[in-house]
Amino acid sequence: MHELESVAFSVLETVAADPIGYAVEWKRRTGRPVVGSFPMNFPSEIVHATGALPVIVQESRTPITEGRSLLPEFYCSYTRSVADQAAVGELDVFDAFVLADHCVQLLGAADVIRWAKPETPMHFAQFISSMDDPWSGAQVRDKVASLRVEVEEIVGVTVTPEALRVSIRAFNANRHLLRRFYDLRKTGRLRVSARQLQVLVKSSMVMEITEHTQLLESILSGLELPSEPPDSLVRLHLSGHFCAPPRPELLDLIEECGVLVVNDDLYHGTRYISTDVPEDGDPFDALATWYLDRNVSAPCGTRVQRNVDWDSYLVDSLDDSGADGVITLMAKFCEPLMLYYPELRKVLDARDIPVLLIETEHEGLAAESIRTRVETFVERIRRQKLKVPTLA
Ligand code: SF4
Repeated sequence: MHELESVAFSVLETVAADPIGYAVEWKRRTGRPVVGSFPMNFPSEIVHATGALPVIVQESRTPITEGRSLLPEFYCSYTRSVADQAAVGELDVFDAFVLADHCVQLLGAADVIRWAKPETPMHFAQFISSMDDPWSGAQVRDKVASLRVEVEEIVGVTVTPEALRVSIRAFNANRHLLRRFYDLRKTGRLRVSARQLQVLVKSSMVMEITEHTQLLESILSGLELPSEPPDSLVRLHLSGHFCAPPRPELLDLIEECGVLVVNDDLYHGTRYISTDVPEDGDPFDALATWYLDRNVSAPCGTRVQRNVDWDSYLVDSLDDSGADGVITLMAKFCEPLMLYYPELRKVLDARDIPVLLIETEHEGLAAESIRTRVETFVERIRRQKLKVPTLA
């Protein structure tokens, strides 16, 4: 079933399981700074161009203890976990933090970090979320310029256009390879689990990017592509889940119910690797272009744009991958997703596309109840395909 197992893959698995451990080790090895950023739109290339390690701060699997009292219980699990990590000292490896997104809950977590680590710089670039206003491009370019000044000050290194171009090429090459795994999965030529693809993407958010690319190349070169998957599996698209990855056990559980995940629009998936930074022209402008382009190639419920929307993108993705239905994974209290979901649901229902909503939380996984719901969902799709009448 799973074709990626190799020494290179186990390295990535270790990094995905312990991002802070990797950052600590990298810092010890290189003596250079580590800069933490937050999902979902920060351009890591600008930090990389200074020689520092850009790391997207991940949700920790440890139970939330100290952080419990620092943010309200109705904040999403990602932000409560970040607050907790700050409070218990797990984020001490970071020399600075940077963010470009302005989800209210994320700002709450950033405030907790400021409180817990007052000596650590925190720069907020706030990229505009209205993507196609006449002033959007100029505003994003201004923010990239302020980011450049701030990052240079934090690391003590000037970001030259040449260095930034090198970093842009390195990240584009990495995204290109990651997309190759996704394309192979979509065609059915690569039998890879959703858990394994998550490892590939999550580790790329943490590792030094050229090191990560070398490991991806090694995994790709060792792949033996099998024949088509059995028809008995129901092809599904996983949608939703911003900022933090769904639990690997949940992905396994879904696939154990006779599901072949063929595509996704998860942040720890297609959304993260969807868009390259232009390699020609001014590299700082290119980062602004990348930000604006991303919402075209993978529209997000947290952005507003007149000529693209997530629902049309999702329907087109299903046509492309041949998925028979959608499982939406929604982190509890993720407001942007909660608010957008009814729109997605309306469009899928109107096209008779089966959809199942699963809510996730930091603490625990109601495995047996979810298993029953997924099995029922899969059976419904099978019957629908065979045109077997069902009770209403
Ligand atoms: S977008 Fe959702 S998951 Fe991300 S910080 Fe905001 S509420 Fe949390």
